[in-house]
Amino acid sequence: MSIPLQHPSLFRQQALIGGLWCAADSGILQPIHNPATGELIGQVPYMGAAETQRAIAAAQAAQREWKQRTGKERAAVLRRWFELVMSHQEDLAQILTREQGRPLAEARGEIAYGASFIEWFGEEAKRTYGDTIPSPQASQRIVVIKQPVGVVAAITPWNFPNAMVTRKAAPALAVGCAVVLKPAPQTPFSALALAVLAEEAGLPPGLLNVVTGDAHAIGGAMTSSTAVAKLSFTGSTAVGKLLLAQCAGTVKRVSMELGGNAPFIVFDDADVDAAVAGAIASKYRNNGQTCVCANRIYVQSGIYDAFASKLASAVRQLKVGNGLEDGITLGPLIDERALLKVEAHIADALAKGAQLVMGGRRHALGHNFFEPTILVNASADMRVAQEETFGPLAPLFRFDTEEELLRLANATESGLASYFYSRDIARCWRVAEALETGMVGINTGLITSEVVPFGGIKQSGLGREGSYYGTDEYLNIKYLCFGGQ
Ligand code: ADP
Repeated sequence: MSIPLQHPSLFRQQALIGGLWCAADSGILQPIHNPATGELIGQVPYMGAAETQRAIAAAQAAQREWKQRTGKERAAVLRRWFELVMSHQEDLAQILTREQGRPLAEARGEIAYGASFIEWFGEEAKRTYGDTIPSPQASQRIVVIKQPVGVVAAITPWNFPNAMVTRKAAPALAVGCAVVLKPAPQTPFSALALAVLAEEAGLPPGLLNVVTGDAHAIGGAMTSSTAVAKLSFTGSTAVGKLLLAQCAGTVKRVSMELGGNAPFIVFDDADVDAAVAGAIASKYRNNGQTCVCANRIYVQSGIYDAFASKLASAVRQLKVGNGLEDGITLGPLIDERALLKVEAHIADALAKGAQLVMGGRRHALGHNFFEPTILVNASADMRVAQEETFGPLAPLFRFDTEEELLRLANATESGLASYFYSRDIARCWRVAEALETGMVGINTGLITSEVVPFGGIKQSGLGREGSYYGTDEYLNIKYLCFGGQ
């Protein structure tokens, strides 16, 4: 399948190691398919530990020079990269929709969102400020400086093939680190296209390496290497735990953005129309396939029926189809495994007493399409209450009191995002402080941007990405003690 691109060179079917575009040592290629049509998009090298070790060595060598550059010099490279990404927004969106499935308009949005991290962290490159501390000894002076950690390994998921790459690579490069990236096997082409543009922006060879292939082997090489100082991972909690354990062997620094199970709460005093709009944005963005998507929708008894019927009307407006076609708002799910999980959650909920308002089945379009689904009378014993569905399923739970709600909302090992709608200012503060998540949306269903600290608590992860906190993940603090003053 050929992709009609203005700049066909953005579509690469090779990996990038030390500035060289290359094949796997074995010559093996991995086919990549479009989740909306099943068509073959292209192939990427199926690499393993040996290629990863070479990428790490190249990164280590390149980083020695890069860390000596001033923040201003690094910022200039990132600025050019940002501008190139934005000027190729359409091509990058075309690639993204084909490998990931999200509608083209949403894909363009992701490219701009991804680029915003490059712009932001380029600017932050100049601001890796240190500190001075008054000494308890008259003869000493105390200074704190920040230095790049060194080589960073990054493992990214398929749900944001562009933005999860830039959210890790941009801060790392900005502060003087080098990166070895393993993109998700389903969506390697967006990452490779970003690397083409980084090269064009003047990023020296070896600073951004992209290794595609065997996740287990590449992850093993990354985590066991003493040359890798830091692992930044976004993906499932299960794989995150595995990688954390693997990183223990070399005591690496880690950032972990893992699964969520976001409660979306609507109190009786909410603006119901606003809450419906927020629920649509939070639940159905990327077809329910983001880790901050509403997973459990709790609605207070007084407005439960009104909210359910307005939500159903709004969901009926959504249009399922191939993201390349005009007017589509919901693309396919990523793969068969994702479809099976949504089906299993629906079957489990129905067996335990939930009722279907709409949807509930694979879509007539076939392939990986699923009907947007609403369930009412969901309860805490159902899988939808305990696990992340990662699909277009909105289960509605009923609650009576704020106290009961907080108990239910916090009854999970996840702690990434939460959302609630209320017009009572005292309640807004109370509930926002009581929710056990790293991020809370209050009267809004969309909370992400490059300026905010994205991240979770509990088993949703460690560390923060984006915002001025985001560079700290890639910096070591060093304390200097000057004696003999
Ligand atoms: P999902 O189930 O949503 O695909 P994963 O956690 O499996 O989420 O995938 C996120 C990223 O982690 C992908 O890049 C994937 O290839 C990678 N990954 C999966 N298993 C491993 C592993 N054992 N070691 C390193 N990376 C892995």
